[in-house]
Parts: sequence; structure tokens; C-alpha cells
Amino acid sequence: MISATKALERLREGNRRFVSGVRNPGILMSSPFGGGPAAEQEPLAVILGCSDSRVPVEMIFDQGVGDLFVIRVAGNIVASSQIGSVEFAAERFGSRLVVVLGHTQCGAVRATVEEIQRPTENQSRNLRSIVDRIRPSVEELLETEIRHDQDELTSQAVRANVRASAEQLRHGSKILEQLIEREGLLVVGAEYSLESGIVDFF
Ligand SMILES: [Zn+2]
Repeated sequence: MISATKALERLREGNRRFVSGVRNPGILMSSPFGGGPAAEQEPLAVILGCSDSRVPVEMIFDQGVGDLFVIRVAGNIVASSQIGSVEFAAERFGSRLVVVLGHTQCGAVRATVEEIQRPTENQSRNLRSIVDRIRPSVEELLETEIRHDQDELTSQAVRANVRASAEQLRHGSKILEQLIEREGLLVVGAEYSLESGIVDFF
């Protein structure tokens, strides 16, 4: 089992490799079939990321097959199935690090900002279920002066939404609470920059 601190260090190192363009050759050559990763998994981290096509999780952390347990959903929101997935990975595979990964210019966050400012009547119920989970993070910011600056509003809302998702994971289930208390499970927030490729953990 890899500790949360060690796992975090491996993700930081991997992201540094990704940014500098020097990939780990072992990852490119390792076969995804047969023995090793295909036989069993011991992912070093669980990543709850956004579905955005520009944020391919394994690539930005320069990790290979079997290294990351990835949950992707638009706006990296937390609903029951996301909590269940994290519980599953942490209990079954012993992952001790959970990263909620947002990113700059998130379309789901932007759509939420627009929906609050100019509500549409016939939005699909399914899409609304995503927007409604991001909404509280945006509404808080709309009560501040930031509301006049659309770009700043979106960028702060991305981080607020990551923090909210991390909080929900920390307190969303008894299992995760116990793993945090007794087993050193760590839930951290992070933001991937589409502009620089850098992941900032916070
Ligand atoms: Zn996004």
C-alpha cells in the first residue's frame, strides 16, 4: 500500500514530467495485457476529475495502466455513485489518496454561471442535476464584488467547486470518514491549468 504522502509526490513528479515533455519511458513500454496490471490493481490514487476532453488524467500525471483509479464526470461533482466509487477503491484496493481535480475554463462551471445569470426554461433534468451541484459554489461568489468580472468569477468558482466536492467526499460517508480518521486517507483538491499543463494542489 502506498501512503497518501508518497502518492501525492508521485503525482507531482509525474505532472512535472508531463509539463517538461520528458515522459517516463517505462510507462510507454509496459504492456497493458497479460500479467502485472491486468492481473490485479493497486492504484496509487483515486482521481475524481472533469470529463473535459482536454484533461486526460493518466497523461497529465504521466501514469500508466493500473496506476490511477479515475472517476470522471462533468464538473467533477459528487453524487452517490462518485462516493461509492471512492469507497470501493479505498476499501478494496487500499488507495490512500483521493484527488478532486478541477481545471481552468471548466465548461460545466461556466454553464452553471450562465444558468444562474440567465436561467433557461427547458434545460434537461439530467443536465440540471449537474448544474445544481455546482450552483452553491457559484452563488456564494455572486454575493461578492467578483460578480462583475466574468473570467474571475469562473476561475474562482472552479476552485470553490473543487473545495465543495472535496468536503462532500470527506463527510459524505461513514466509510470514508473512518478511513480518514484511522487509515490516513487524504482527500485533496487540485486544479489543472489548460494554459500551462501544471496541476496545482491546494
Ligand atoms: Zn470541466
